[in-house]
Amino acid sequence: MNMNATTPGTLLAYRLDAVKPSPSMAAKMRVDALRAAGRRIVDFTIGEPDFPTPPHIVAAGIAALNAGLTRYTPSAGIPVLRQAIAAKLLRENGLTYAIDDIVVGCGAKHIIYNALAATLNDGDEVIIPAPFWVSYPDMVALQGGVPVVVPCPAADGFKLTPAALERAITPRTRWLVLNSPNNPTGAVYSADELRALGAVLERHPHVWLMTDEIYEHFVYGDARHASPIAVTPSLQSRALLVNGMSKAYAMTGWRLGYGAGPRALVKAIVLLLTQSTSCAVGMSQAAAAVALDGPQDCVKEAAALFAARCDRMVALLNAIPGIHCPRPDGAFYVFPNVDGLLGRSTESGKTLSSDLDVMMFLLDEAGVATIDGSSYGMQGHLRMSFATSIEEIEAGCAAIAQAVARLRPSSGSPVSLNPSHQPSNKDQAHA
Ligand code: PMP
Ligand code: GLU
Repeated sequence: MNMNATTPGTLLAYRLDAVKPSPSMAAKMRVDALRAAGRRIVDFTIGEPDFPTPPHIVAAGIAALNAGLTRYTPSAGIPVLRQAIAAKLLRENGLTYAIDDIVVGCGAKHIIYNALAATLNDGDEVIIPAPFWVSYPDMVALQGGVPVVVPCPAADGFKLTPAALERAITPRTRWLVLNSPNNPTGAVYSADELRALGAVLERHPHVWLMTDEIYEHFVYGDARHASPIAVTPSLQSRALLVNGMSKAYAMTGWRLGYGAGPRALVKAIVLLLTQSTSCAVGMSQAAAAVALDGPQDCVKEAAALFAARCDRMVALLNAIPGIHCPRPDGAFYVFPNVDGLLGRSTESGKTLSSDLDVMMFLLDEAGVATIDGSSYGMQGHLRMSFATSIEEIEAGCAAIAQAVARLRPSSGSPVSLNPSHQPSNKDQAHA
């Protein structure tokens, strides 16, 4: 509880008690500070592509500036971009939206935030399957809503089951938030799994679906992305599809995302934009239209790059005794289990008793930055982004292996290989 926020006479609103800093942004800031202090850190924290925005998209942004797109745009976004988004949704997802059913914001995060602000009354519940992207629960709480976190264990492939969804729904449920491919686990729901969840939602017409598909292009092996709305078309009248340019087109800093949904909801989001940001950046919008309308080779190349990095990271982590890393089906994160390291002691005598301890140990002793699974709603894990070079992945995993080899069990002898923490074929295939 943030006492500063609630102490009478202080500046900050009570609402802020419900919010903590985004753990992923905080982790990135920690890395920046350590690097500024001269430490060499391998950074597996932040989820953003490590390569630049493709040149044809950058050129489109520059051309937009030179052409005078330097003013406010319509709050919902420029028509040419909303048209490009509508065409993309039809082409790639099989979904039909009119441009008035589409709203452009400063990142997908901004769209999710405003959608929740536009729809939640005090006490309204939002079902969030865990592990979850860190910002969902805090955004819900900030609007006076209640995050209803539903644990989705590794044994279920970190996925929400229809039975668990059914149990979580109450008369106060406003939204189910689904994120496939998932940050942080990389779980990808199959069309059949989405159909089964859709069938539950069809029985509860008061529950809306927010589908965050920002990692849709990064799927590996046999996994295929399916949009839950395409799988259960009856949901389209009560679903908000959220997506953005950050991941697929390496455009995190351009801050451009979008939502597509029923017109009344889209209008409400636009209303909030008119009173907050006014509009997304004009040149980013123009560049995004070119990205969506143009050749998609850059997206395919990025997906192939991430697939290779994923394989390497999974193999290297699974070779470390005490770490068990299921293979993700999508996104660009691994979510290894580190329970096998708990109870061990560092050379300085500190016993590792949580994933947070493991995260700090790896930062201090290996110079490798990760994020604790607890921040994503599941303890005993770390989240590690592989949106970084193979060289960094190899250097980071080698440093982890060396640091882990120096750990001692409570008795004082070095860690021995514990077969129960080695990956099984079943676990490998889970996600
Ligand atoms: N959803 C998920 C699951 C994410 O991981 C991110 C990453 N930041 C976002 C939404 C928001 O992305 P952005 O605001 O950069 O579009
Ligand atoms: N989505 C990214 C991540 O999870 C970016 C940071 C954020 O917006 O939280 O690392």
